[in-house]
Amino acid sequence: SGARVRRAHNKRLPQYLERGVDVKFSDVAGLGKIRLELEEIVKFFTHGEMYRRRGVKIPGGILLCGPPGVGKTLLAKAVAGEAGVNFFSISASQFVEIYVGVGASRVRALYQEAKENAPSVVFIDEMDAVGRERGLIKGSGGQERDATLNQLLVCLDGFEGRGEVITIASTNRPDILDPALVRPGRFDRKIYIPKPGLIGRIEILKVHARKKPMAPDVDYMAVATMTDGMVGAELANIIEVAAINMMRDGRTEITTDDLLQAAQIEERGMLDKKERSPETWKQVAINEAAMAVVAVNFPDLRNIEFVTIAPRAGRELGYVRMKMDHVKFKEGMLSRQSLLDHITVQLAPRAADELWYGEGQLSTIWAETADNARSAARTLVLGGLSEKHYGLNNFWTADRINDIDTEALRILNMCYERAKMILQQNRELMDAVVDTLVQKKSLTKQEFFNLVELHGQGSSSSAEI
Ligand code: ADP
Repeated sequence: SGARVRRAHNKRLPQYLERGVDVKFSDVAGLGKIRLELEEIVKFFTHGEMYRRRGVKIPGGILLCGPPGVGKTLLAKAVAGEAGVNFFSISASQFVEIYVGVGASRVRALYQEAKENAPSVVFIDEMDAVGRERGLIKGSGGQERDATLNQLLVCLDGFEGRGEVITIASTNRPDILDPALVRPGRFDRKIYIPKPGLIGRIEILKVHARKKPMAPDVDYMAVATMTDGMVGAELANIIEVAAINMMRDGRTEITTDDLLQAAQIEERGMLDKKERSPETWKQVAINEAAMAVVAVNFPDLRNIEFVTIAPRAGRELGYVRMKMDHVKFKEGMLSRQSLLDHITVQLAPRAADELWYGEGQLSTIWAETADNARSAARTLVLGGLSEKHYGLNNFWTADRINDIDTEALRILNMCYERAKMILQQNRELMDAVVDTLVQKKSLTKQEFFNLVELHGQGSSSSAEI
């Protein structure tokens, strides 16, 4: 009958084969030296005979380790693409079935297909779903999973050293894998893929910008700077969102501003539609404006990318984005003065609350930034950057901890007074920023600096300890 014919036909069609995989190493950015290791895997395919003649064992499995979104899947595809071999993939969570035997038979089918279509790369995503140490899960679910894992080990051993089918698996938790999996001849090679650094992020952005109409003067450094901690998947998304922004405005080129806005959305989640009372809008605006107005007086902090009070899902009230000297900051090289400036900025919301609402008013709106200030002040004292030295080479007695707190408190008070003074000198600018924020909810860098130009008084005050 027709049904039987179709089933027989399906059997011959490989179900785990991904067709049209055309990824090259040039599509994966920010790899640095990792690329050399991956090029070697390609050679196992292209120069397999040479390896075998010289008695060099080809690994059966390679483990790509790293957090989600760093490009592990993309890399596995690039290996297949560069070697010109077939790519078979499955997510290990698909192995984990409630019915006994299903997982194991899928593993068998996967490797059967890969072998029939060799040379090929088998990619197993989320390896930890099935590769956790055996016997840890009790009950029949655990038995089923153990059976799947055993089948996988059998399949891996079947291809040991031959270089016709190479398995690449990805995991974020290499530490919890069953020891049998990482034994020689199985996944005996681990490659760690970290989150990209500043330069890596620039390169990734540029790779995804290749096929987009970018403005010629796009400032990738600015975008990379404000996306600290993001992975390739998020950076790719920023380019897509920026492109949609451009289309919506009926423009033909993606600008730095599009990218910065997209980065802001990516980082802070989608706009929350929550309603606020006019008083709350104003209070949040004062809080955020205070930080920006104080920060603009300090050389290391005045690079303000945007100010916003738009509520974002699951986040705090508002937001000022300041661009610090990234490299210096990473290396812990901030000077004493920039640390003091930082503390002053973090205390600005508290100072503004006092100036605009008076001491009697209780508010927790500045609690988070005040906390930042407190911890920065302690860092400053412990780092030996204050007048009184309580460096780490001294023993910390109870007395000394008291002294450290006293000194930190002195610094906090001094910075607090300084924030207050700057705010008082810049009342006009504060009012202008607060009004615009309440109206428009967000200020771009340009809009903010226009207001500074118009209303700013600057500040001659500097703090000395
Ligand atoms: P993982 O497998 O580590 O979770 P993926 O490979 O699935 O991450 O990454 C998802 C997408 O993010 C990719 O298809 C690609 O568009 C983008 N991406 C991630 N890392 C990079 C990178 N290093 N270079 C270029 N694009 C990347």
